[in-house]
Amino acid sequence: MSSASKPGAQSGNSMIPFIDLKTQYERLQPNIERRISKVLSEAHFILGPEVTELEERLADYCGVAHAISVANGTDALKIALLAEGIGPGDAVFVPSFTFVATAEVVADIGASPVFVDILDDGYGMDLDDLVRRLDQTKRDGALRPRAVIAVDLFGLPVDYDRLEEIAETYGLLLIADAAQSFGATRNGRRVGGLAPVTTTSFYPSKPLGCYGDGGCIFTEDEERASVMRTIARHGFSADGRNTLYVGLNSRLDTVQATILLEKLTVFDEELDARDRIAQDYTARLQNKIVTPRVPQSSTSAWALYSILVEDRTKVMTALADGGISAGIYYGRPLHLQDAYGKYGQGSGSLPVTERVSEKILSIPMHPYLEQETIEYICQTLLETQV
Ligand SMILES: *Cc1c(COP(=O)(O)O)cnc(C)c1O
Repeated sequence: MSSASKPGAQSGNSMIPFIDLKTQYERLQPNIERRISKVLSEAHFILGPEVTELEERLADYCGVAHAISVANGTDALKIALLAEGIGPGDAVFVPSFTFVATAEVVADIGASPVFVDILDDGYGMDLDDLVRRLDQTKRDGALRPRAVIAVDLFGLPVDYDRLEEIAETYGLLLIADAAQSFGATRNGRRVGGLAPVTTTSFYPSKPLGCYGDGGCIFTEDEERASVMRTIARHGFSADGRNTLYVGLNSRLDTVQATILLEKLTVFDEELDARDRIAQDYTARLQNKIVTPRVPQSSTSAWALYSILVEDRTKVMTALADGGISAGIYYGRPLHLQDAYGKYGQGSGSLPVTERVSEKILSIPMHPYLEQETIEYICQTLLETQV
């Protein structure tokens, strides 16, 4: 048990939330309700004007020419692959240490995910390992390398400069899975403009979340944008009388778009708050615990604040006893899961991924964490570690 006392304990014994969407809602409630009632009274529920307005705002925000809103972050990835004509016989290189959607979309369209290890510094794709696996795949000759999906895990952009060189050398489409990093930057450029195609998610707990499912795709390339938009709307031609591609029904609805428009008004402020909180955590924990490192050239969107601990069970028990929520992202790498094992090479094939997945632990992170709560969480952690 912790000797520190839990802030707000006298007001009941509820847990300190991992992500606090209620406090944000209380702050934005009048504006969000006003905006939603406007959508309800205008009854333009599918592809209403707010959807176009949001797409314009998001493209501006990222500094890219095109933003295509879709139903969720998984569809965004799938549409990006379909627009490139990827399918059976093709290899798409993905991390194994990620949310399942990154590999799911590849298998779903009949292509083969090839798993790549991560760096233990930042948890992004290990680009030396990527090159090794690309060469291996080419030597084997069974699959044609077509794309690489890099994941900005926990909110930190990967090394897109080197990745883009590799993608060019091997003739691959580079897709940034920025579901966790919307709002982050690298060398002064925002996520969305760091790769030829970037996808994101507006799932409620992501840095920019709506109140249901939502997603978006970003690109500079007008031709590609048009193909992706067409695929997301059933593949219909502009006059609606023909279908140009086998597409899907993937739209962001107007209610979600209007919620996102309102949330965008405070998004930068929230990103700053996340960054301040992360720096506070790091300053308090770094001498005793492995904390996340953000390179000088980058900022993180801090979707999650994740630490490495030796005895995770013990730490999680201490946090739970102290009324602190925590989460494991991700405890079982994809290449060791039943559905994806056949695409990988089993235990021992991705050593860093496997080691990190045993030690990773995420602690509460959201823009409304209070100073005394941060102090209490850190004190509880430090008392458990020693
Ligand atoms: C959340 C997430 C997705 C999928 O987004 P959905 O909107 O839930 O479909 C894809 N990749 C990563 C890395 C994610 O964290």
